[in-house]
Amino acid sequence: MSVLVLADLDNTQLSPATARVVGAAAQLGAVDLLVLDPAATSAASALQGVAKVISAAVPLEAKAIAALLESLAPNYDYIVASASSVGKDVMPRLAAKLDIQPVTDIIAIEGASRFVRPVYAGNALETVSDSQAKHVLTVRASAFRPVAGTGSAPVETLSSTVPAAARLIAQHRTESDVPDLSTAQIVVGGGVSVGSAEGFKLIENLGAVLGAAVGATRAAVDAGYAPNDWQVGQTGKIIAPDIYIAVGISGALQHLAGIQGAKKIIAINKDPEAPIVKIADLALIGDLFEIVPQLTAELQNLGVSRRG
Ligand SMILES: Cc1cc2nc3c(=O)[nH]c(=O)nc-3n(C[C@H](O)[C@H](O)[C@H](O)COP(=O)(O)OP(=O)(O)OC[C@H]3O[C@@H](n4cnc5c(N)ncnc54)[C@H](O)[C@@H]3O)c2cc1C
Repeated sequence: MSVLVLADLDNTQLSPATARVVGAAAQLGAVDLLVLDPAATSAASALQGVAKVISAAVPLEAKAIAALLESLAPNYDYIVASASSVGKDVMPRLAAKLDIQPVTDIIAIEGASRFVRPVYAGNALETVSDSQAKHVLTVRASAFRPVAGTGSAPVETLSSTVPAAARLIAQHRTESDVPDLSTAQIVVGGGVSVGSAEGFKLIENLGAVLGAAVGATRAAVDAGYAPNDWQVGQTGKIIAPDIYIAVGISGALQHLAGIQGAKKIIAINKDPEAPIVKIADLALIGDLFEIVPQLTAELQNLGVSRRG
């Protein structure tokens, strides 16, 4: 079976999601990796399981990318992308062009045409049997293990003539040395009870000591305490860390929808009846403004710091 994966980019570099999507796609067959920025081709060619890197320069907008994928589609049984904002934009367009029903948000691959995906905001999992001759898939990168970067696949450069439907005028990027929320191994999340953007420094400090990414509830984001791209949940990011530390978070269904993949949940909450406490592996019941600084200081004393 032949598989084409659209590489997920973080500016001009491969995002950490790409190695995970390749890990997922390699279960289906030999993977060709389409990379839309020449700066990312050498990292792409190092990914294990990649048979060939296809480097193409097209305008980075969904219509042009979908047109390029459509032109490559006849050579492949599967066309796969991360369920990132780009994947969610591009793949339904491609599926419509190919007259295929896409299978989205895959969290497990059970066979050549059997895929598991969450439904009802993550409250149930459905197993889908996709009997189509060609498959258009998006995968939740955090659900799959990344492949190693020890390969050396050949690079084929494609001269694409896909015209731009839109012109990119400017790109604004948030610079941060904090791990990517979607693929971080540890995430510390803060709720609205943190009380202010200043108060969120408590969450960030704990995150920094652990080398963790920082997340937030929608209530905290709506209150202006945390930036929008930190939101975790049904309408935010889906995370699957090894450890999720939920600080002052009640555990509303819409938030839980984003943390279903977390392997261990630690709740810090003053309410022992809070829903997050009920599902946590470990709960610290008390005032976050006492517990979090103490925990951060203890971890610092133990020399736990993983960042710098
Ligand atoms: C369509 C829709 C989509 C949504 N999407 C999302 C989403 O993607 N992500 C999301 O997070 N939410 C989402 N929501 C909102 C969601 O329903 C909740 O309102 C939100 O998650 C609650 O955030 P919270 O836990 O910060 O606040 P609250 O529910 O108010 O909980 C605060 C918690 O802090 C605890 N607490 C208070 N003070 C302290 C203290 N000093 N120390 C320790 N603990 C303390 C309380 O006991 C409580 O458990 C969505 C809602 C809708 C309707």
